[in-house]
Amino acid sequence: MSAKIIDGKAISIAIQAQIKKDVLTMTSQGHRPPGLAVILVGTDFASQKYVASKVKACEDVGFKSISHNLDESVKEAELLALIDELNEDASIDGILVQMPIPQHINAHTVLEHIKVDKDVDGFHPFNIGRLAQRRPLLESCTPKGIMTLLHSTGETIRGKDAVVVGASNHVGRPMSLELLLAGCTVTTTHRFTQDLEKHVRNADIVVVAAGKSDLVKGDWIKKGAIVIDVGINRDINNKIVGDVEFAKAAENASWITPVPGGVGPMTVASLMQNTLIAAKQLHLGITN
Ligand code: NAD
Repeated sequence: MSAKIIDGKAISIAIQAQIKKDVLTMTSQGHRPPGLAVILVGTDFASQKYVASKVKACEDVGFKSISHNLDESVKEAELLALIDELNEDASIDGILVQMPIPQHINAHTVLEHIKVDKDVDGFHPFNIGRLAQRRPLLESCTPKGIMTLLHSTGETIRGKDAVVVGASNHVGRPMSLELLLAGCTVTTTHRFTQDLEKHVRNADIVVVAAGKSDLVKGDWIKKGAIVIDVGINRDINNKIVGDVEFAKAAENASWITPVPGGVGPMTVASLMQNTLIAAKQLHLGITN
């Protein structure tokens, strides 16, 4: 293996330690701590785990956090009423509705109901639009975390040819916008892409978010490319694996993220960063 590992776990710990210091500074100046409200609908096991890790991160950095666990059968109007309440709550800077939510509730309606300055997941069309227009406000957490990982390598990102594998609303699309904003020439691939291999072989930066283990073969990776694997899959031994053939890809890449321990921890770190930005800049007017 010649690639260097991009250690998302270590980078996320450093980010959260800095946020903790910022919170101590804020509160020592007489400000309230940032506040995050997390809404979970139903009892999906993975969602419960994600919510628990977000609440734990809040505790670790000194944020106020409140959790609302709603029954699977909750009506859309009740969920919207709760969001209205949190939109008006002056102690809350960020509102997160853990996805997926049950089918009888329109996820778009819910996400668009969150005030744009409390949209710390960065999924609201306003925040995606701001990113598209090169004026990001609250950026989607996973792509934001990936940009932090890319910059952590110290490599020049501007001018690189980047390929994003996957075009979902919350990962692939905003990821392509982030790379475009950073000055890359971006190719977005998706399930209808005819020759994925050709695109990957050309890329200096490869970000893979398709949710299919071993979709990207290691020998497709150009020598010296940076590889970011967002995928979370289970192999036949129930071990967590990404979307890239890791061992072979690492022979060609200059930098690569492991799964787990790469992108995953950065999503939570970005959420904490967004909540701090919402508190300091958008709600309390703290400029330092
Ligand atoms: P999704 O199912 O919403 O989207 C998958 C995308 O991959 C689609 O755009 C689809 O067109 C594309 N795709 C499917 N087959 C393809 C192919 N053969 N070639 C090119 N593109 C193809 O998934 P998602 O929510 O974007 O998540 C993708 C993966 O990332 C999943 O494994 C998910 O668990 C993981 N994920 C990880 C984190 C994290 O923090 N680490 C966060 C979000 C998602």
